[in-house]
Amino acid sequence: MNRRKTDSNNRLTYQATDLPSQGVDWEGQTTMQSLGAEEDDRFQFPNPINFSLHVTQLAEDFLITGKLDVAVDAVCDRCAETFTLNIETDDVCHRYEKAIGTVIDLTDDIREDILIAFPQSCRCSDDCKGFCPKCGANLNEESCSCNQEGEEEDERNPWAALDKLKL
Ligand SMILES: [Zn+2]
Ligand SMILES: [Zn+2]
Repeated sequence: MNRRKTDSNNRLTYQATDLPSQGVDWEGQTTMQSLGAEEDDRFQFPNPINFSLHVTQLAEDFLITGKLDVAVDAVCDRCAETFTLNIETDDVCHRYEKAIGTVIDLTDDIREDILIAFPQSCRCSDDCKGFCPKCGANLNEESCSCNQEGEEEDERNPWAALDKLKL
């Protein structure tokens, strides 16, 4: 996901011309792909990124602040199901010095902002139960008796008994 492959025709840019003193709002959409973020086994990017930014001119410098959000397809670390993960950040804050009259290229900065907002661990819900380490049941969908007292055999899983014989 962090490897960079950015199409130069497809970058996120802002033409820095003189602004009113209160600045201007700049809202729109871009894509993870055009920011150069690549999909991998854990994260797929079928949806656009929404950005809601504010651009302020400070003499020759430009300050760009605001927020980003994107809904990605993510694979749960615990149960391996794919789910929709909403990623948001309102920490966008970049200053571009002596930018007046130039085209500001925000591609790399915005990509870093959104990638930093990805969670370290990725769960479909806070109480995802994941798989049973003994019988492999998806405990969100079914229960198993592995953790019950007395180590009873799980009747729905004949392999559990077989595994014990091998030991
Ligand atoms: Zn899960
Ligand atoms: Zn089990």
